[in-house]
Amino acid sequence: MYSLTEKDYELIAEAQKAIHLNYDEENYNHTVGAAIRCNSGSIYVGVNVYSLHGACAEQVAIGTAVTHGERDFESIVAVRGKDGEEIIPPCGNCRQILHDYMPQCDVILLANREYMKIKAKELLPFSYKAEK
Ligand SMILES: [Zn+2]
Repeated sequence: MYSLTEKDYELIAEAQKAIHLNYDEENYNHTVGAAIRCNSGSIYVGVNVYSLHGACAEQVAIGTAVTHGERDFESIVAVRGKDGEEIIPPCGNCRQILHDYMPQCDVILLANREYMKIKAKELLPFSYKAEK
């Protein structure tokens, strides 16, 4: 685990802005925002898309980054609440996606009441690997 840098706090602020602008608990359950920083320096954001098989905010942000041609990722964060006041860890499905797409990417989360970052691959030990 590593401590956060100024760039990490900027990324958190981008995720908070994304959910602040799109928060909608009543109609679509948009309650989580995410931001991902690519090695190119670009940042992409997303909010969760709720449905029976909805997409997490991280997946929307990753999908947007990939759609823009990004393939190398530096760090990712997800926040929950009207102003994104709560940093939340990725769910199990997102952990698998992070593991498959960006095992070396830093994931920002709250651990022992401190903001920390950890490599995506460390969030999924003994992970499933697709046959190639
Ligand atoms: Zn998820």
